[in-house]
Amino acid sequence: MKYFGAHVSAAGGVENAPLNARAIGATALALFTKNQRQWYAPALSDESIAAFGKNCRECGYPAPTILPHDSYLINLGHPDREALDKSRSSFVAEMQRCQALGLDRLNFHPGSHLKQIAVEECLDRVAESINIALAESSGVTAVIENTAGQGSNVGFDFAHLARIIAGVKDKSRVGVCIDTCHAFAAGYDLRTVEACDKTFDEFDRIVGFAYLRGMHLNDATKPLGSRVDRHQPLGAGEIGETCFRYIAADPRFDGLPLILETPDEARWPEEIALLQAWAR
Ligand SMILES: [Zn+2]
Ligand SMILES: [Zn+2]
Repeated sequence: MKYFGAHVSAAGGVENAPLNARAIGATALALFTKNQRQWYAPALSDESIAAFGKNCRECGYPAPTILPHDSYLINLGHPDREALDKSRSSFVAEMQRCQALGLDRLNFHPGSHLKQIAVEECLDRVAESINIALAESSGVTAVIENTAGQGSNVGFDFAHLARIIAGVKDKSRVGVCIDTCHAFAAGYDLRTVEACDKTFDEFDRIVGFAYLRGMHLNDATKPLGSRVDRHQPLGAGEIGETCFRYIAADPRFDGLPLILETPDEARWPEEIALLQAWAR
């Protein structure tokens, strides 16, 4: 079974996200559980938590179909001790929010070395940040997203994801999310069936499908290896339709939230319907 959805709005309260997902025909969803441009948010009210659970049940979104995303401010590999601590405590709060909502995973971008520390040192800080977050929460898996490698972001190479996982003590609560636009921007070709075979075989060899907890389905504005993170609607960018047909038809992506972060929201119902048709 394939679950397709989009990163929908939670404006007015997290409980609105499942309603917004249902309105576009989604069988999965992503959301921010708080304002993504702020470090902290007031605790979720009991009413909001109860309404979120009720709406998820009524709209048919069990926890494994939901991929919440953390704040863009957080840098779990920050070179500066004080800034690292701030990111870590904000991330712990985000993990606890997911736990309160009955969610089982939290997607985040690993971090940036800001040209002040080595890549490996940055990756090891990310792993330690995950260890801290796992110790202060329960039932929520930390899901590392691959990046486009823009600026000093780490996590664009599958080997980076593997190194972070290697540093996490509880392997049962760490996973990855592969963003197709980011992978392509990082130099992993996805334009043909053969290219998809090669890229996902490499992913399996270096990280392992056992760690896959979700996908972001985005086409890319810029060419292969550009290191630029700019999304396009499916089939409208440099990757093209083949990759998304491939993922829709491949059982290795069954049972996971497969999430659109494509720029034109008006196209989401159509993109989801297309993916569902390709999956059949
Ligand atoms: Zn993404
Ligand atoms: Zn992106």
